[in-house]
Amino acid sequence: MTYVIPQPPVPAVAIAGSSDLFPVHRVYCVGRNYADHAREMGHDPDREPPFFFQKSPDNLLPAGAPGGGDFPYPPKSDNVHHEIELVCALGGGGTDIPEDKAMDLVWGYGVGLDMTRRDLQGEAKKAGRPWDVGKAFEYAAPIAPLHPATEVGDMGQARIWLDVNNEAHQDGNTNQLIWSLPESISYLSGLFELRPGDLIFTGTPAGVGAVVKGDVLKGGVDGLGDIKITVV
Ligand code: MN
Repeated sequence: MTYVIPQPPVPAVAIAGSSDLFPVHRVYCVGRNYADHAREMGHDPDREPPFFFQKSPDNLLPAGAPGGGDFPYPPKSDNVHHEIELVCALGGGGTDIPEDKAMDLVWGYGVGLDMTRRDLQGEAKKAGRPWDVGKAFEYAAPIAPLHPATEVGDMGQARIWLDVNNEAHQDGNTNQLIWSLPESISYLSGLFELRPGDLIFTGTPAGVGAVVKGDVLKGGVDGLGDIKITVV
């Protein structure tokens, strides 16, 4: 058997302190998962069940410390926002996973950025259209090397922060997640068949904002190191 065009590369994320790679199957993102961010986007955080969207695995942009990476400012937008997020990497899968078994699926964690064309997302929301053009564009998911859960624990309580040009913009804690990681995994597994290689971007705390060319974004989750990108 041969493919009729060259086989696309397998999207993969680096592992901290290793030359091994984590191959990526899907990239799920949880929407409005911190109350203060839901409020800044004009929503009531108390009355909405969790909801999800996806980025394409080939939107991932390796951007780990110390060198960081360049984030090309995307086309067709004048309002590109940063969203710093805890990313969970699944080593197991399944459907209808109960909450008390959900953490058994977790292989590890990393720091990611859910870069968002906020103007295009806003137009899509208004028109009742999908969010893809706002969320799933080239380089829309910068991500730092992953850490195995066996080394870093469950990350249920950790500071999450982002500085722009050395100025604090986002600062929260993963214990503020409206839908905890086991709850999100369990809920997602009712909607989709989760598989090894899935990543879950777990949501962003308040303080999102627009970036411009030349900005240096540096953020992190305590215990997982930093991510750094320069907008070019
Ligand atoms: Mn997000």
